[in-house]
Amino acid sequence: MPSQSQYRGRFAPSPTGPLHFGSLVAAVGSYLDAKHHHGKWLVRIEDLDTPRCMPGAADDILHTLAAFGLHSDEPVIYQSRRTAAYEVALRKLQALGTVYPCCCTRKEIADSALQLGDELVYPGTCRNGIASGKTARAWRVRVNDARIGFNDQLQGNMSQELASEVGDFVVKRADGLFAYQLAVVVDDACQDITHVVRGADLLASTPRQIYLQRLLELDTPVYMHLPVAVNTQGEKLSKQTLAQPIERNNTASTLFDTLAFLQQQPPAELRYSAIERIWMWAMANWQPGPLRHRQQLML
Ligand code: GLU
Repeated sequence: MPSQSQYRGRFAPSPTGPLHFGSLVAAVGSYLDAKHHHGKWLVRIEDLDTPRCMPGAADDILHTLAAFGLHSDEPVIYQSRRTAAYEVALRKLQALGTVYPCCCTRKEIADSALQLGDELVYPGTCRNGIASGKTARAWRVRVNDARIGFNDQLQGNMSQELASEVGDFVVKRADGLFAYQLAVVVDDACQDITHVVRGADLLASTPRQIYLQRLLELDTPVYMHLPVAVNTQGEKLSKQTLAQPIERNNTASTLFDTLAFLQQQPPAELRYSAIERIWMWAMANWQPGPLRHRQQLML
């Protein structure tokens, strides 16, 4: 385990819209955990899924973070400019023989796959070669039935059996874009990230990421999954649920509310203080313990 002075954390927003409260929670939680441990905090723009990105959203997110005093300790990296690094990783997986081309359409998978919760378990149709006359569309990584476990700093011992719960998963998509699971693993390693603090909506992705780290011989960071903010209907705050963009005025009271959401109990008078004083209190007193075993919290 890396010493505290080597702590390197990150916040990795997808620029699909402006920053909303749910993503501010991940930004503030990852920042506080890094700074409490005298570490570095990096911002990475995950603009890989270009069809889902909104023009101008990356700059807008960075401006909002800056209004809160949140600045990346190193230059911001953009996934859209890192295709070459993902190609290298894919080639390594190809050389290992752990990936194969897949020609299945979404519909074909939906028709034959087992559904586990929200996830479709890929039935392995193209595992032993694609049917003649079909063209390969995506690349999938072959999984096995070993359980992949990790000890999340808040959620405790988590594990997944990829074969029965996920199936062989996509690392390069049919549209030619690299999949999030591969890109995040390559980038966390390339940025020497030691601690990943992010929303619990990504808990179920973590075993896939650990699996790829092992295949690519990369270190596994320490994981901490924060509860996600949900509305009174239990829906995660997102662009789809019309979460309000964070405003750049009133940053002090918004930060105060974010700390309260993160169960930090800032003294009431801090709400009306300068934001610098709120940060000072929050960095010194960061204590994620009360969030233990909470995967969601109502706003
Ligand atoms: N880009 C992802 C998101 O905005 C976060 C990825 C991560 O933190 O690993 O949901």
